[in-house]
Amino acid sequence: MSRNTVRGTVKVADGRYKPNGPFSVIYPNTAIRNEEGVLLGVTNPRDMTYIHSYGGEAPFFEGLGQGKLLGTRCDNSDCAAQGSVFVPFRIHCPDCLKKNTIVDITEIAKTTAHVHTFMITERTGAFNTLPKPIRFVNVEFEGICTILMGSLAVGEPKIGMKVVPIFRTNDPTYTILDLFWVPVGTDEAELPEGFTFG
Ligand SMILES: [Zn+2]
Repeated sequence: MSRNTVRGTVKVADGRYKPNGPFSVIYPNTAIRNEEGVLLGVTNPRDMTYIHSYGGEAPFFEGLGQGKLLGTRCDNSDCAAQGSVFVPFRIHCPDCLKKNTIVDITEIAKTTAHVHTFMITERTGAFNTLPKPIRFVNVEFEGICTILMGSLAVGEPKIGMKVVPIFRTNDPTYTILDLFWVPVGTDEAELPEGFTFG
């Protein structure tokens, strides 16, 4: 598996994506044989680099690496849901479809977040990078009308447990893996590598 593992990168120039380098990499085949050594087939290992556009959600992922949790709020005075705050980040209001306003809810999260419910997963799908078992937590906030799915990085989850966000502020991935939760009172020394309280 030592073949070219340099993968493509993307820049933006004049408002367009400019991909550079390989976006699909082929690895050597291996033979599949039966107990008698008869050839039955081959493996075809491939890897692909997918270009994932964040669009209007980009500020959310940029914020995580800066220790900020961003939500959005409907500010349309003609909307029955005016003032509703959404986390996960919704670009548009689901009621009036107008563009929402981005709001920083880091302090609300630090002071009011608690576990609404949780789920412990012993088995995962392909490409999981989280240590198992994964302690998924549904995090509830005061004054926010949605519940955020996350993962508890320290301790055992309990319903109602107060939690605080932690952020991968050191070498962020710009994905949701830059945000985890820990019980209130967790010591900074217990946090996973690269994470801080923001
Ligand atoms: Zn609305």
